[in-house]
Amino acid sequence: MTKLTEKIEKPLDYAVNIVVPDEILAERIVGRRVCTECGASYHVKNFPPAVDGVCDRCGGTLIQRADDNEETVSKRLKVYYAESAPLVDYYKNANIIVDIDGNKTPEEVEQSVFKVLDIGVK
Ligand SMILES: [Zn+2]
Repeated sequence: MTKLTEKIEKPLDYAVNIVVPDEILAERIVGRRVCTECGASYHVKNFPPAVDGVCDRCGGTLIQRADDNEETVSKRLKVYYAESAPLVDYYKNANIIVDIDGNKTPEEVEQSVFKVLDIGVK
């Protein structure tokens, strides 16, 4: 029992672990482009705008954020493996972890999570 589950007085039935290979995570982050006007997000490969560098929604300029680069991704992954990954082992040992393939469309990942949680799969 963790502090959170004690606080809400409910057991923790599942821990959902959305799994994406490191190189795919890196590709997603490095290819991300953000509109300077409205904040809309795009991806050079997975979700490109109709016109390169221009926001579909408002016509604003798309930029690559300074921290969306390989070096930052690598640093973030190191922090993840040092600080968060041990939690995955903890829940694996508790037999409540459910791995979900995160290398799919957002809608497919959402459906997989809903299936695990058994809440209103559309
Ligand atoms: Zn925009």
